[in-house]
Amino acid sequence: VALCEAEEALPAHSRPCVLEPRFNWMLFWKFLRPHLLVLGAAVVLALGAALVNVQIPLLLGQLVEIVAKYTRDHAGSFLTESRSLSTHLLLLYGLQGLLTFGYLVLLSRIGERMAVDLRRALFCNLLRQDIAFFDAKKTGQLVNRLTTDVQEFKSSFKLVISQGLRSCTQVAGCLVSLSMLSTRLTLLLMVATPALMGVGTLMGSALRKLSRQCQEQVARATGVADEALGNVRTVRAFAMEQREEERYGVELEGSRYKAEELGRGIALFQGLSNIAFNCMVLGTLFIGGSLVAGQQLTGGDLMSFLVASQTVQRSMANLSILFGQVVRGLSAGARVFEYMTLSPSIPLSGGCSLPRERLRGSIAFHNVSFSYPCRPGFPVLRDFNLTLPPGKIVALVGQSGGGKTTVASLLERFYDPTAGVVMLDGQDLRTLDPSWLRGQVIGFISQEPVLFGTTIMENIRFGKVDASDEEVYAAAREANAHEFITSFPEGYNTIVGERGATLSGGQKQRLAIARALIKQPAVLILDEATSALDSESERVVQEALDRASSGRTVLVIAHRLSTVRAAHQIVVMAHGRVCEVGTHEELLKKGGLYSELIRRQALDTPPPEAPR
Ligand code: ADP
Ligand code: MG
Repeated sequence: VALCEAEEALPAHSRPCVLEPRFNWMLFWKFLRPHLLVLGAAVVLALGAALVNVQIPLLLGQLVEIVAKYTRDHAGSFLTESRSLSTHLLLLYGLQGLLTFGYLVLLSRIGERMAVDLRRALFCNLLRQDIAFFDAKKTGQLVNRLTTDVQEFKSSFKLVISQGLRSCTQVAGCLVSLSMLSTRLTLLLMVATPALMGVGTLMGSALRKLSRQCQEQVARATGVADEALGNVRTVRAFAMEQREEERYGVELEGSRYKAEELGRGIALFQGLSNIAFNCMVLGTLFIGGSLVAGQQLTGGDLMSFLVASQTVQRSMANLSILFGQVVRGLSAGARVFEYMTLSPSIPLSGGCSLPRERLRGSIAFHNVSFSYPCRPGFPVLRDFNLTLPPGKIVALVGQSGGGKTTVASLLERFYDPTAGVVMLDGQDLRTLDPSWLRGQVIGFISQEPVLFGTTIMENIRFGKVDASDEEVYAAAREANAHEFITSFPEGYNTIVGERGATLSGGQKQRLAIARALIKQPAVLILDEATSALDSESERVVQEALDRASSGRTVLVIAHRLSTVRAAHQIVVMAHGRVCEVGTHEELLKKGGLYSELIRRQALDTPPPEAPR
């Protein structure tokens, strides 16, 4: 039974074997320390319960002795003679139950509070990591650390304290009473038990391996389902439901096969261990019986011995399962603690900021070179120079994959340049407070706006937490969004669905613009903000953007060149460098890369309305 429980306690998910982080005992101590008092109380109660458990077999033996006496002699009153012993036993049972209740309550209190602390600390530190960290990690794995790993660690911790303490105490206590009852029998037991435990442990580890494979297979099946359900629109669009069903079916079959194999293994283990334990009972009775016959042992003592030896065996079986749980708990804990100690290279805040009235919003890139931390040998920008004069619109154009978004990321300080400096009003970005820079100076609007699954009001307010309702309405008006929002029955309280699934592309983009405008940014970055939109919504969004651009320093990144004609300056980049700068007319006249891009795009765009 205990083994089955351990199987269930395993996480429903497992990860590929990568380098395992080491368990951080110092950090664990930090989380444990606030609970030391309660933990101490729990330990005392658990020890008490275990000691009571040790007492019980002895008293049972005495009771059996009385029963035996009455079967022999049939004289006197059984009830009067056994009353005090029975009451004593009943009291012990009650005490045992009470102690168990007490330490379980205390342990669950510690466990849950520690889990909350762990999750909070981990989440807080994860959110502070560099963007480069998230480039290299899968979100699912990070979420797993918050959920499964903390869960696993918590349950291991609770198990170790409750079961571990109890089992150890019971083994020790019962061994003492056993040897007091009969040294001879105890020695015999001490030979037989470890041998059986050894076999059991071997089988147990084989079963654990099987169970791990089983979970991996289940995880694979879950992955297929997760992907299909998460991307149901794509699945529907390609009419791939049948294929996904088949794929899921294949993985399910695989996991059924593994699980049945595991089930057979567990069944075999249980069957064999039942035989072994029963044989040991019989063996003890047989040998003990001959001792009783030889007057070296009373029948009651034999009964006590049997009950106590069963307790020892159960406890030792528990301990061997617990060992596996400890190993898993430690590795889960190590994974939880790993990202708690990681500190980002770009802090979230700290540094100087400029007062709003002195802020001009001029940006300069000086000989900036950059390669992404996860792809160090691949330079994206080389000796890149760019100036954004305050209050002017500068367009950045170039081929897809040329590094335009990277320029925007450096400006947001998602990354620091490998060489060179990025400056705001002549100050190195690295000396400025990043939270001030991102929260108050720069407004960023990307091609794929991401909204949160809450109300429109809250989504816009994401740009400025303390904005009043009036400010939200004003920003929405400026972004051409007020009209469509108020046309919804719920108005600003409309829930936008997960990632804004219930809105059209143009509506989402206008909300994103309102969200950026509400912080009144001095610098606006538009990264292909309209390129995912159809021409009608592009017109509305573009109108909002034109309005938002006036009086601000604007960097327009555009693939579609029709949108950049109005810019004060157009910068063409290729191979991570700036290769042409000028106005639309100048660049056309020059006949370089820009005019080439224009020519190519004119060819690509189909005529507006094909005559029929
Ligand atoms: P653009 O916006 O001009 O299309 P990007 O700046 O997005 O180009 O990308 C420039 C280059 O950097 C591309 O080769 C792209 O593969 C690479 N790149 C973009 N983002 C990352 C990232 N997070 N990690 C590693 N490489 C990246
Ligand atoms: Mg891009």
